[in-house]
Amino acid sequence: MAERMTVAPSPSLTVYKFGGASLEDAAAIRHAASLVARRLPAQTVVVTSALAGVTDALLDAARLAADGDGAQALAESAVLRDRHLSVIDELATGETRQHVRGIITEAFATLDQLLGEVLSAGALAPVMADRIVARGERLAARLFAAAMAEQGHTASVVDATELIRTDGRHGSATPDLKRSEPVARARIGHALRDTPVVLVPGFIGVADDGTVVTLGRGGSDLSATVLGRALQVDEVILWKDVPGVFTADPRAVADARVVAQLHVREAAEMAYYGARVLHPRALTPLTERMRVYVRPFAAPDRVGTEISMRRSRVRSPVKALSAMLDQALVTVSGNGMLGVPGVAARTFGALADAGISVSLISQASSEHSICLAVSEFSAGLAHDVLQDAFASEITLGDIEGIEVRRGTATIAVVGLGMAHTPGIAARVFGALAEKNINIVAIAQGSSELNISVVVDAADVETAQRAIHAAFRLQKLGGGTVSRTRYRDVILLGFGRIGRELVRHLPTARGTSPVRLRIVGIIDRHGFVFDPDGFSAQRLGALGTVKQRSGASVAEARGGEHATPVDALHRMAAHALTSPVLVDLAVGDTRAVVHAAVEHGMDVVLANKVPLAIDSTSARALFDEAQRHGRRVLHEATVGAGLPIIDTVRKLLESGDRVWSIEGCPSGTLGFLFSEMGRGRKFSEALRAAIKAGYTETDPRDDLSGQDVGRKAVILGRLIGFAGEFEDVSIESVVPESLRTVPLDEFLTRLEEADEEWKSRVGASRDRGEVLRYRVRATKHGVSVRLVSVPTGSALASLEGTDNQFTFTTARYLSNPLVITGPGAGPAVTAAGVLNDLLTLTGGT
Ligand code: ADP
Ligand code: ASP
Ligand code: MG
Repeated sequence: MAERMTVAPSPSLTVYKFGGASLEDAAAIRHAASLVARRLPAQTVVVTSALAGVTDALLDAARLAADGDGAQALAESAVLRDRHLSVIDELATGETRQHVRGIITEAFATLDQLLGEVLSAGALAPVMADRIVARGERLAARLFAAAMAEQGHTASVVDATELIRTDGRHGSATPDLKRSEPVARARIGHALRDTPVVLVPGFIGVADDGTVVTLGRGGSDLSATVLGRALQVDEVILWKDVPGVFTADPRAVADARVVAQLHVREAAEMAYYGARVLHPRALTPLTERMRVYVRPFAAPDRVGTEISMRRSRVRSPVKALSAMLDQALVTVSGNGMLGVPGVAARTFGALADAGISVSLISQASSEHSICLAVSEFSAGLAHDVLQDAFASEITLGDIEGIEVRRGTATIAVVGLGMAHTPGIAARVFGALAEKNINIVAIAQGSSELNISVVVDAADVETAQRAIHAAFRLQKLGGGTVSRTRYRDVILLGFGRIGRELVRHLPTARGTSPVRLRIVGIIDRHGFVFDPDGFSAQRLGALGTVKQRSGASVAEARGGEHATPVDALHRMAAHALTSPVLVDLAVGDTRAVVHAAVEHGMDVVLANKVPLAIDSTSARALFDEAQRHGRRVLHEATVGAGLPIIDTVRKLLESGDRVWSIEGCPSGTLGFLFSEMGRGRKFSEALRAAIKAGYTETDPRDDLSGQDVGRKAVILGRLIGFAGEFEDVSIESVVPESLRTVPLDEFLTRLEEADEEWKSRVGASRDRGEVLRYRVRATKHGVSVRLVSVPTGSALASLEGTDNQFTFTTARYLSNPLVITGPGAGPAVTAAGVLNDLLTLTGGT
């Protein structure tokens, strides 16, 4: 248990990536640094691209050297060096300036040496190209750190070669997520302990032989998502020079609009088919809980485009277009192909062996021909490879030949909604026919997520505009881009805590732009649901009905009867936005809570039962949540709004060991004993507690210690207690003779216990002590009992319904950490729940 807690991600940690266009000059870098600074004290991992144009310029210099023009190569190098030097001069002063100037000078001195080596080799090996370009992002990280320093913030730089392991393919390496994750998590976690901002150069990683590799052009997007996954963050933000992902490349289609949300598969499809806005593999590391945002660097308050695993409701089956330029179409055809086995398989096999990637495949159902698109650059090679592969068939005449048509482009029409909408292809063809554009080939992905058409390169822009207009994509985003982001909350139970929570939700937002809205309420008998969220007024009305009549929400307007589990399944069938189930019920809600996690919801618990009842299912809940990338938070289960669970977690996360937790986690019993200590009779004190609303309906639920026992088990499990609730020794303070009598009888016979309590309290006082109902939890055991403590002790000082917790840890050994404060009542319990909700939205 303790182990698992230590990997709990920090809620506020976010990954930012700044693209080259966003790091144009000193002013831009300063602006980028201020975006990071304004998140402080929240932690940020910042992935930097090279300054605008630097990667191209470095490659240029390298190619010049390879082509034998050493002088020109060195001249390019000098220009770049001076550009970096002038940026640092503008950004920083004093020591920082001198320090970074030194780094720049050295990086370019090494570059000049490398260019010399390329010159004498007469060729640019991929391993050398990677060494040369890697300095672009590394220097950007240094400049960024300097800009942070100038604004008074420290940031550390961790090189990506320490974090991102790859397959070692120079020029386009693929990160090895499995091996990179633990390393990156540990290394960055370590760095974050020192500074809240950690800078990592994007685009690069390391090969097994220790050499630096690059991840392919635009690869810093991928660096960001790899790190986001490793660090289990909820958000990765890619700051770019565009307002978001457009419905089409804005350079080709002037009235393209920003898409508010794209499913990962849609975005990946666009990227794969040439939308330069994202690296084609950038989305592979995405997890269920992660959202990637493409956001405008120039207008940082706009939300841009969300890319995530959720399916948003769309009005249009088509969401966007992208185009791949410089394509060639290769056709293998012949009358005899029908009889030749495995033509398709052999075609792709041969191309794959030659390292040629195929962007589109289309086979006529007659099997008369196979058509495929490859990049124009590899068209010649593709032709030769296929000619070889089918040499015998070509001799026999079964295959007529391999035809290559250059100068084409592939347009992909993308949208998940296409799968259920007939006639999409017809509309694409109609739109192109109207503009007299000839379609060279077509293909529809088997997923029906995409229809691709190949057209002549000369037609590609007109074709995109025609398709864009045919689907009225200019109406899709634009003015309707949603500025507000939500998290959908489902309440399980709607009693006093629920009503209290509802009162505070509208104003509680913390620092997060995300708003919480309640979309569903479930009680024992049914539910109410509105995917657009209930208004405060409606919630107020529902609360009043429940409070006055005790009726189920099923009886309310729009309510339905159902079991809680069914109600949850029904709600989960809708496209909810990052839903959270909040369990405010009493009793065994395990089935609903587990179902929520399986549906990919986060869970916030005030209800103790699911965590206290049996160890197997409590553990399963956390494990299951982790598998789905979800969180189970339960601050309100112990000490209401006091940060008890959070404190234990933070201690464990920071490497401390918690030996024991002691305390009085019951406001009710605390009140009772502090009143009796003041000389009040047991019966009077208890009646006052009942009147003030401090007790359960049957006060014996409090006095029996069952409720305290649950809290004790939860605390114990946080620090490694593996036992069951039954293993906890609980001392009941219900008078013997009144344990089994009916409630009303119990309430009338309270006085019978006064004498005994008077003498116990008195005996304690005579010893200079007071009675306290105390929990003690360690890894080895958990107990709940009435103890007599010296008046000078911390516990004795407890007043009224306040709770107190004492943590004895490796660090807080001789002087334990004590937390005291109000620990009972709906308002503070709701505060604990709210705090968990804000943690989930990154607002605390
Ligand atoms: P970065 O600077 O972060 O590396 P890129 O330059 O890779 O960003 O990506 C942004 C560019 O992508 C934009 O300038 C834009 O011209 C181009 N682009 C192509 N297709 C699209 C699209 N559908 N939406 C947004 N931008 C696009
Ligand atoms: N600087 C690299 C490139 O331009 C990587 C990146 O910016 O994403 O390809
Ligand atoms: Mg890019």
